[in-house]
Amino acid sequence: MENYLKTYVEYRKKIKAYGYFVWLMSWDQETEAPDASVEYRTKQYQVLAEEFYKIESAPEYLEAVDYLFAHLDEIDDKDLKVEIKQAEKALRMVKKVPKDELLEYQVLTSQASHVWSKAKNENNFSMYQPTLEKIFVFNRKLVKYLETDELKGYDILLDMFEEGFTQKEYNLFFNTLKEKLVPFVKEVTAKKDKFSRKLTKGVFPREKQKQFSEYLIDVFAYDRTRGLLKESAHPFTSGVTSTDTRITTHYYENNLTSSIFSSIHEMGHALYEIQNDPKYDDTFLHGGTSLGIHESQSRMYENMFGRSKAFWTVHYPKLQEIFNKELKGITLDEFVAFVNKSERSLIRVEADELTYALHIMIRYEIEKELIDGKLKVKDLPKRWNKLYYDYLGIRPKTDKEGVLQDIHWSGGAIGYFPTYALGSAYAAQIYQAMNKDLNIEEALLNNNIKAINAWTKEHIHKFASSKTPKEILMIATKEAFNPMYYVDYLKNKYQR
Ligand SMILES: [Zn+2]
Repeated sequence: MENYLKTYVEYRKKIKAYGYFVWLMSWDQETEAPDASVEYRTKQYQVLAEEFYKIESAPEYLEAVDYLFAHLDEIDDKDLKVEIKQAEKALRMVKKVPKDELLEYQVLTSQASHVWSKAKNENNFSMYQPTLEKIFVFNRKLVKYLETDELKGYDILLDMFEEGFTQKEYNLFFNTLKEKLVPFVKEVTAKKDKFSRKLTKGVFPREKQKQFSEYLIDVFAYDRTRGLLKESAHPFTSGVTSTDTRITTHYYENNLTSSIFSSIHEMGHALYEIQNDPKYDDTFLHGGTSLGIHESQSRMYENMFGRSKAFWTVHYPKLQEIFNKELKGITLDEFVAFVNKSERSLIRVEADELTYALHIMIRYEIEKELIDGKLKVKDLPKRWNKLYYDYLGIRPKTDKEGVLQDIHWSGGAIGYFPTYALGSAYAAQIYQAMNKDLNIEEALLNNNIKAINAWTKEHIHKFASSKTPKEILMIATKEAFNPMYYVDYLKNKYQR
């Protein structure tokens, strides 16, 4: 036992160190590395990645994980137990899938995003179809290799991204949305709002947007000694420890609110990891427990705090001060209505809070049918367009604004989409629980987001990934997942 533990801890230390440098490289690449640096960096990266792989797949290390997993009840440290369980689960793919099939699939998915992006640009699904077929063929085999007594089929993929959430939970969730939300969305979006051309057609200088995002860092008490804000093509959060978690945003001069809500969204993600208990920094438990819980934090900060009237009552004057010309004559009420407008749209990433989950529901149904074999990849565009018509009442005219819009499947991420919708639903349930302990509206009006951060730290963030999503939900809200909080939240907000 002692020896295996020692080996495990030694390897963990090495894996963390290599992981850190790979992380640093990719952060640099995404944010400020000059274009010409790519070749040299790639060369160094390949050497490092090879060494990294050797360590992660060292027989000595795998043996230690296996042994410790088989002797879990002899381990006293609760966190270590959780860590070993997660390590064993992560290694299952390497152990159960034949090596040549796995390598072939890795090559396939590393090239697929290129094929996808070409097909998307040329608006031609048939260019992408053969690649996508291979991806789904592999995933149908994968679920056979990984099946257990409890988990089979699509459930295996769902559980990989959100532990404990399978079709049982998701069917309940999405059926609730189908019944309660689909008719409501049709009703709310039947009438289109009109907004001042200043908001819809204005030009908002980059430098001023940057100034406001910097201001938001202090508003949200995102600790500048532990994080920073840069720019990238697509906003993201990237961190390694509670002392270093960074975010990016993107400034569009024709869109004032995009960078504002991206910055707040990413700060929600970053606060989660910065507020992890530092004792996890040197372990594999640092970070968020799941994609769904992570997304619940970003969306709660972005949508529930960041788009509220209380929030803008305090911060709109600052925004108007910075954009004194651009926002002249735009009242607080108009601005708040503008950032909460809802309309039916074809593109998921541009969807608003009300309609977003319906975009996800469509992808969930399609993934389920593809993995079950009920739907063929060649029939995908037709099925996609029909579901958009059924749930959102609109039909894509081309595959570019339909089935070709998302990158996810090309990277092999199947079972990932549902966590996005789940995150919003978790957020609504967590918000209700938090509001019992502290008056959120009052905290926002007092510009006291620190009080909110203290609550999220105590009930969610500090646990890092030492608890499962279901356990976190139970700790934070004292009840199991209940999608009605989400439906009620949206109905309250969008009822006219
Ligand atoms: Zn996010």
